[in-house]
Amino acid sequence: MELQSILTLSGLSPDDNGRELTCSAENIVGQTEASVLLNILFPPTIVQLYQPVRNQDWCIPFTVMGNPRPDLHWYHEGKLLEEQQYIKTEIHEITDTEYHGCLQLDIPTHIHNGIYTLVASNEFGEDRGNVSAHFMHTPDEDHSGTEGVFYYDTTFSPDTPPLEDKVAVYIVVGIAGVALTGCILMLVFLKYGRSSKFGMKGSSSVISNDDDSASPLHHVSNGNNTPSSSEMGPDAVIIGMTKIPVIENPQYFRNPGSILKSDTLVQHIKRHNILLKRELGEGAFGKVFLAECYNLSPDQEKILVAVKTLKEASESGRADFHREAELLTNLQHEHIVKFYGVCVECDPLIMVFEYMKHGDLNRFLRAHGPDAVLMADGQHSLLVELTQPQMLHIAQQIAAGMVYLASQHFVHRDLATRNCLVGENLLVKIGDFGMSRDVYSTDYYRVGGHTMLPIRWMPPESIMYRRFTTESDVWSLGVVLWEIFTYGKQPWYQLSNNEVIECITQGRVLQRPRTCPKEVYDLMLGCWQREPYMRLNIKEIHNLLQSLAKASPVYLDILG
Ligand code: AMP
Repeated sequence: MELQSILTLSGLSPDDNGRELTCSAENIVGQTEASVLLNILFPPTIVQLYQPVRNQDWCIPFTVMGNPRPDLHWYHEGKLLEEQQYIKTEIHEITDTEYHGCLQLDIPTHIHNGIYTLVASNEFGEDRGNVSAHFMHTPDEDHSGTEGVFYYDTTFSPDTPPLEDKVAVYIVVGIAGVALTGCILMLVFLKYGRSSKFGMKGSSSVISNDDDSASPLHHVSNGNNTPSSSEMGPDAVIIGMTKIPVIENPQYFRNPGSILKSDTLVQHIKRHNILLKRELGEGAFGKVFLAECYNLSPDQEKILVAVKTLKEASESGRADFHREAELLTNLQHEHIVKFYGVCVECDPLIMVFEYMKHGDLNRFLRAHGPDAVLMADGQHSLLVELTQPQMLHIAQQIAAGMVYLASQHFVHRDLATRNCLVGENLLVKIGDFGMSRDVYSTDYYRVGGHTMLPIRWMPPESIMYRRFTTESDVWSLGVVLWEIFTYGKQPWYQLSNNEVIECITQGRVLQRPRTCPKEVYDLMLGCWQREPYMRLNIKEIHNLLQSLAKASPVYLDILG
């Protein structure tokens, strides 16, 4: 006997793609079953279309969904863009139905300014989105002397309507004779009614394009399995499901704006005025020493300073050194570590900073947390655990430093407690603008040959598109708050780098630390909004922290 039946499913969405449906049939003599995977076909949707960002080339990042895979076409000022070697679409990530990519533009000039329209189509429909891009050379040349500074100003806001879920699945079940013979899935399809409009989001930024300057790099193992992709060449790696373009040595001084002035006078300190006392640690550029510095200030014969030495003084290393010295000279704020000057008379090149007695904040937090006794080697058993008001006091000071950096159009890109320093009376300053330290190598994820990424502190758009902005710094500040309230735990410590990337890009956020008040966790959540423009503004964060800190005064003296 043969039986036919149809199973109709409705209310399915593209998220149901790949789900398994099993049909089971039984009678008095036996049972059988058969399964099918749902393959839901749907028209393309442009989920995201971002302002151009500077990678190795310029990139207009996008995310498109659709099944079957949409065909992509670009229009520039309404005219079909012919893709060629210098302008081409690249897809970075492919899941079954989701595609991340870039319209890659190699050294665009003013003729490339204008509206870019992305059209994504498949047999079920089409979606389109606009983004306006303005590439402009300024007369200023960066230090590499090869490229100028680009400004861009783009506006875009996707306003994708909700998908109308009308999905039907028909299943034909065949039953032969006494025994049941199987289930056959006949057809899966769907029909979406949709339209797409793009509103305006409005934002503008200033970035410079000095990606290719090479700061000295550390040889750091990523401590995890990074399968590097041989077939993609050296400019991309696969992390989990994500193909990430490798940008050589992202470093931290790309937003000169008002900071990098041509007339900056870097103070030069004579070598004989610096008396090294002991090693403090190892940094991105080389060793860091405690030293006495003579004749630095008119009122004191000598003061304690921290000196950073440049390990490998290659040509580009020296260029970086000088650029950073200029930048540091111009960054002056009570919550940014004070930079006194350089000593370049002989090797090694030296940078001189104010000495911060308690070292980096991460180590400080751990030393004043519940695990301190375990780490104390018997000698610090008198150390006291940090109180909540003290944590707020610390957080508030870092936020103050970040307000200042944002006001200078400076995007830090690596805000983390390891990059903050603690002085006397719980004075905290943002103290490091370089990248990667041997001690904290596991905080970074090595992609490709050189690039080190602090992924655990990075928002989705920085991980997926290397988009670093004041808003991505805000995300990192949220992670810094989490570090403070966990006494310096590593974010996502229980996960491997690949798992972290997956978590963050899928929208998961860190859990509320046990000791963290609700108001502070709400603040963290405000920093971790997926859309950068939805995140709290750095000034708001600072004000909130300031009022929370005021409400619970700090008794500083307990730290001695
Ligand atoms: P960095 O080059 O900033 O990565 O420094 C490496 C280590 O040297 C840090 O983890 C600190 O422990 C120490 N250090 C760096 N700068 C200072 C400073 N200004 N005062 C005291 N210790 C510092």
